[in-house]
Formats: sequence, C-alpha cells, structure tokens
Amino acid sequence: MEGSALAARGLTRDFRGFRAVDGVDLDVAAGSVHALVGPNGAGKTTLFNLLTGFLAPTAGRIELQGHDITGLAPERVARLGMARSFQIASLFPQQTVRAHVELALQGATSLGWAFWRSDRLLRRFRERADELLERVGLAESAGEAAGSLAYGRKRALELAIALALDPKVLLLDEPTAGMGVEDVERTVELIAAVRDGRTVVLVEHNMSVVGRLADRVTVLQSGRVLAEGPYDQVRADERVVEAYLGS
Ligand code: ADP
Repeated sequence: MEGSALAARGLTRDFRGFRAVDGVDLDVAAGSVHALVGPNGAGKTTLFNLLTGFLAPTAGRIELQGHDITGLAPERVARLGMARSFQIASLFPQQTVRAHVELALQGATSLGWAFWRSDRLLRRFRERADELLERVGLAESAGEAAGSLAYGRKRALELAIALALDPKVLLLDEPTAGMGVEDVERTVELIAAVRDGRTVVLVEHNMSVVGRLADRVTVLQSGRVLAEGPYDQVRADERVVEAYLGS
C-alpha cells in the first residue's frame, strides 16, 4: 500500500448473505485520477460507499494516506482528507449557491461553529466561497437560489461543496450521470481543472470520460476486480470487452 493515497485490501461487503463486494484490492496512486468502472450491479456504488465510510465492510482494510480508516464514520474520514461529491438531494433549494459553500467551509473549520465567529472570519468564508464558485464556473450564480440551477450547474455546486473541505482525495460518484453532451464536456474540463495535484477517484459509466480523465482504471465484475491498469490496456482486455457485452 506504500505510496498510495488510498488503498484497500480484501475489501468485502455482504448484504444478507449476498456478496456485493468480494475481496477487492485497490491502490490509488497519490495525485492520480483513478476510475472505477464495470457493468451494472458490479459493486461500484457499494465499493464507493465502503471507501468513504458510508458503509462498514464485512471484511478487509482501507488506508487513507497510510492511516487505517476501516470502519471510521464519514465525518472522521472527511476530516482526514477525503471528500465525496454530495448528492443533489442534499441541497437546500431556497438557500443561495454561495450560502451552500459558506456552510461547507464553516463545517470544515473547527472555528466555524465557535461562538466568537467574528465578522472577519465570516468575510473570509465569503471570499473563499466566491473563489471556489469562480473555479467551478458558478461565480455569476452565487446569489441565486440553489434550486433554480440547471442540472449540470447543480453538479458543479456539489463539486464546490466537496472542494470546500480542501480534500487530498476527492471521490466523485458518476459526475456526468444524466447529463447532455455539453454538460459532460464542461464537467470533464471542470474535473481536469480542479484536479490540481489532488487524488481523484471516480465511478463513471461514460467510457469517453474515463478515457480522457483517468490515469488508471479498475474494472469490477460481480464484486471482484476483473482488470486494472491504464485505460488503453484495460479497454483492449478481452475479458473486459466480454463483461460489457454480457451486461
Ligand atoms: P453498481 O454500482 O456497480 O451498479 P452496486 O454496488 O449498486 O453495483 O450493487 C452491487 C450488487 O449488490 C447488486 O447486485 C445489488 O443488487 C446489491 N446491493 C447493493 N446494495 C444493496 C443493499 N443495500 N441490499 C441488498 N443488496 C444490495
């Protein structure tokens, strides 16, 4: 696991006797973009939830930058430097776009909830929120209600919220799901832009997105690792082609 930003060994999760993730080994190199792919039901979402602490493993071990994080709650994992993209369902439709990011920044800082939250501190949160919104292309929407954003822009807001934690490892669950071609393009550019030395793990169905963003790809099938390697190598692997044809 040495040198890995995120690693798993023998990671396993059962649901009432059904093994959704089955002895997965994973090594995500620091600073790389690593994609998790596989046909429907392969175990990608379950693996994602295990890595971020939203599900406890039945067996196995997870390390974040050399720290054993197996079984830790999501908040603890987040504090150790790993953030996941939020789900749209968790946005407050009436709140402004900026308020969402300010709130995330306050939550990420232990000072955020202190009773001496000074004007200066609040100003600092606002400036930082505006910087993050600028980075994800939402500067002009800062004062709008989050509920009024178009779908692709909501996903950009989720990314800004995740970035508020300044995570070393960023996990993105199907960042382009349900998007039209234009939003997919924008999202690919956005992820490439916010990457900036961070480690990124993404679950992604769109293979052209994977090909453009990922340094390495892990292919899952029936809860197991079917193949792992650079995109071109994995794409040419006959077992991978078959797994997709059969799905
Ligand atoms: P993917 O994201 O690759 O489509 P999932 O991780 O969602 O795959 O699911 C993997 C398998 O585990 C599927 O067969 C699914 O039905 C099963 N599964 C996932 N979550 C649960 C759950 N909470 N209870 C029972 N079975 C589950």
